[in-house]
Parts: sequence; C-alpha cells; structure tokens
Amino acid sequence: MLQDQEAHAAEMERTFIAIKPDGVQRGLISEIVSRFERKGYKLVAIKLIVPSKEFAEKHYHDLKERPFFNGLCDFLSSGPVLAMVWEGEGVIKYGRKLIGATDPSKSEPGTIRGNLAVVVGRNIIHGSDGPETAKDEIALWFEPKELVSYTSNAEKWIYGVN
Ligand code: UDP
Ligand code: MG
Repeated sequence: MLQDQEAHAAEMERTFIAIKPDGVQRGLISEIVSRFERKGYKLVAIKLIVPSKEFAEKHYHDLKERPFFNGLCDFLSSGPVLAMVWEGEGVIKYGRKLIGATDPSKSEPGTIRGNLAVVVGRNIIHGSDGPETAKDEIALWFEPKELVSYTSNAEKWIYGVN
C-alpha cells in the first residue's frame, strides 16, 4: 500500500536508545545497532560517552524513589554508553518491542534483552518509553546540531512512499 509523503512525514518519530556499559563492554554494539538498522529505522545521532553520576541521575529522575536508583546511576556512569537517536514510523513503541521486557528473565526470546541478557540490573539497553520521554531524553543527551536530518535512499522501499 503506497503512502503519500505527507502521511509518511506525519508518522515519523524519534526515540532515544542507549547501549549501557554492560552492552558496550560485552561487545554487543554492532549486534544491537544492526537490529535497529535492519528493521528499517534510520540512525540520526550516535556518540560514545561516559555519563557522570549527576547526568545518570537526571536521565533516570523518574525512578529516584526506587531502591535500585543509586546502584542504577552508579552503573550507568561506570563506563562508556553508546547514545543514539533512531527515527522511523512507530519507532518509540516498536523500539521497546525490539528491546523486550525490562527483566530479561521475562523478555520474549527474539528480543534484544531476551536473547542477550539475563538479569534486570544488567539488561544492556535503554529505550524511551513514550513520546514525552523520547523528547526529553533526546534533548538531555544531544544538542540539536548533533541530530542529522537526511533522506535515506532505502526509505521508499521501507515505507512504500510514492
Ligand atoms: N532496574 C533494576 N531493577 C528493577 C527495575 C529496573 O535494576 O527492579 C533497572 C533496569 O536496568 C532498567 C532500569 O532500571 O532498565 C530502568 O527501569 P525501567 O522501569 O524504566 O525499565 P526500562 O524502561 O529500562 O525497561
Ligand atoms: Mg524506562
């Protein structure tokens, strides 16, 4: 079914995805990036950074009352994190599906956490959980000039846009 350009543009979303220090240390960057890439999503920003503890606390501010908050922020700031922005129709919700449930012991096989992680405290990847969080997290991790807007030649084949 062909879609017109306007309808396609209106459906476009961006989400924040990060490979946490465990995923980076375990050599899972290419495996994880390739799952988003092969699906048909478009990479619009990427960088490797070691976040400070304060920065990790900002990123996870919603969870500050949870007992695991301090350990989680220590962990996120313990080494390199691969921060990314991915673009595509429905990428926020479907990106979470590709990632799988928070606790890898409950993640479906075939998902990133289901295939590649075992325990909740080392679940290798983060993905925004909704449009508002996606907007806030992209703004926290990236400056606007770091987001690259471009047309991919594959788009017409991925979306069937006429
Ligand atoms: N987390 C944890 N213990 C828990 C729940 C969560 O260590 O009981 C960690 C886990 O790494 C998770 C992160 O806290 O990815 C953020 O929790 P959230 O509920 O937002 O899960 P996510 O959105 O990452 O699936
Ligand atoms: Mg979350």
